[in-house]
Amino acid sequence: MLHWYDVNAWNARFGNDSQTVHSLRKFRTRWLKQGWSFEEALAEVSPDVASTIKAEIKPHPLVLAERHDSQLDGASKLLFRTDEGLMIESVILRAGTGRTSLCISSQVGCAAACRFCATGQMGIARNLTTAQILDQVVQANELLRKEDRRVRNIVFMGMGEPLHNPANLNEAIAVLSSPLLLDYSLQRLLVSTVGIPDEMLRLDEQFPQVNLALSLHSADESGRQELIPLAKSVPLARLRETLLKLKLSEKRRIMIEYLMLDGRTDRDSDAEKLIAFLENIPAHINLIPYNSIDGADHLTGSSQATRERFGNTLKAAGFPVTIRYSLGADIAAACGQLIQRENREIAKQLRATQTATK
Ligand code: SF4
Repeated sequence: MLHWYDVNAWNARFGNDSQTVHSLRKFRTRWLKQGWSFEEALAEVSPDVASTIKAEIKPHPLVLAERHDSQLDGASKLLFRTDEGLMIESVILRAGTGRTSLCISSQVGCAAACRFCATGQMGIARNLTTAQILDQVVQANELLRKEDRRVRNIVFMGMGEPLHNPANLNEAIAVLSSPLLLDYSLQRLLVSTVGIPDEMLRLDEQFPQVNLALSLHSADESGRQELIPLAKSVPLARLRETLLKLKLSEKRRIMIEYLMLDGRTDRDSDAEKLIAFLENIPAHINLIPYNSIDGADHLTGSSQATRERFGNTLKAAGFPVTIRYSLGADIAAACGQLIQRENREIAKQLRATQTATK
């Protein structure tokens, strides 16, 4: 089988005849850049080449199992099923400005096990393949074409820790930004991490234009470790050291994701610690409202008044701040919420099958 994104393999397979090369390029443009369906785009190549492509390429390694459209705002949640029967999520966000963003997953489950996140509670962590990561974008664009839209910004902020899947993440970024394939500018991509220092530095070195977000959520050592068990292996001092080494500037600021939790992350002392942690670091702080999840009854979101007061303190210290509002609250937009139980069950069955066959 050929990977649709392996242009060298295509050239080796179909040769350098200029007419074929031209028609293949047109096929890829229609499918990958203009959102035509794979079948529609095949009309651009000769019947012989089309039948070889059909026989050798699996255009969609994911099955779109469900789509939930918010009645409140422009969010659509797409639930995809992998070959193993595990589910992942992507979210289309349609901003009032007409711009469309897509939040994609890089893993099924997540080893970071954040207490406030349904994905982290699934008890599994499996890397998505490069093809599965990319297919979320390809299928979203095929859906959006019916609305005369195309995904403009891609954020790796869905299920999983992207920097726990670095090889496939890097390959996906290369394909997304290849002018021959999806042709996204690197500045339109954002990778969100809970803080894996070596991988952050490697990504920064390899793709200095890709934007980075750090899910910080607390600048208090024990408070952060309580919320993000993985943080026990990366003290805040090491994270700060890493941020200081990144190629950041006024134009390329690190996005700091900060969850507003009542009595845990929203006190005056929390704001002071956050300001101290970010001293001399070009950062943009996003204050995120908390969507409650099963199994985390001890966590409560901060009130809007508190979020605003906290935001004003940070602004007064000189940081750009965005106070986020929940999108798609009616479609359980919090990552992993719709499929938490289903994935747990399937993972259990897969483990049982693997043990039985050992
Ligand atoms: S919040 Fe992100 S890093 Fe934490 S468990 Fe969920 S998916 Fe993983």
